[in-house]
Amino acid sequence: MMITPKKDPMGAAIADFHRLGKAARLRVFSPDFDEDEIPVATLFRSFEEMPTLEQQALQMARGRILDVGAGAGCHSLCLQEMGQTVTAIDISPLAVETMTARGVHDARQQDFWSVEERYDTILMLMNGIGIVGSLNELPHFFHHLQQLLADGGQLLLDSSDICYLFEDEEGIIELPGGTYYGELEYQMQYKSIKGDAFPWLYIDFETLADSATTHGFTAELIQMGDHYDYLARIVKQGK
Ligand code: SAH
Repeated sequence: MMITPKKDPMGAAIADFHRLGKAARLRVFSPDFDEDEIPVATLFRSFEEMPTLEQQALQMARGRILDVGAGAGCHSLCLQEMGQTVTAIDISPLAVETMTARGVHDARQQDFWSVEERYDTILMLMNGIGIVGSLNELPHFFHHLQQLLADGGQLLLDSSDICYLFEDEEGIIELPGGTYYGELEYQMQYKSIKGDAFPWLYIDFETLADSATTHGFTAELIQMGDHYDYLARIVKQGK
């Protein structure tokens, strides 16, 4: 799946911010929650401005690196400065254009699911695993990861256990029944550009680790963040 500029609100926001140093509101809608907003400037964060979890991930990256859903390229640019070799992919044409203009040497408009080369490190930061959409897709995801990772290769990702969204005034968490509570639906809008709705997964570490193990990987909790977030490493077993 690839998106066109007409349906690329995030890309338009990124391109505006790059050109003008500011952007309008990047709005996020979800049937489950009140309207929200992504501060566009945060997509342009420097190493110093990044959360510790992300800094840690960048320091652990090695070998041939793939930055999945690279956005404005903040992580790829840091890695280049650290002397690393990185390929940045994004389905947004405007994001890719902006990354190239900002100096990302190898930025490609490509869908994660169609990547065929192998990498030693795959980065999915800022909840990049969101693109998996639902728990049902995890087997498909791990199967693809098996193809993408070189032997001993690693996936570094951060996500959140969003159980806190279901906390009442007394601090008691009551999770909804039915589908997994981390499966959200999002839609974004920038100025008059509205994207299609898409599924977006947040996953708690336990659930992620169980699935990783089932599919022949090892999962390691590297670090906990301040608010139900974490950095994990998924390693492909050698033969
Ligand atoms: N990683 C960046 C951007 C996060 S926003 C950061 O931390 O700042 C998520 C990005 O993933 C968006 O730019 C979106 O276009 C991209 N994306 C969504 N689905 C994708 C897919 N299937 N393959 C590659 N990129 C994808």
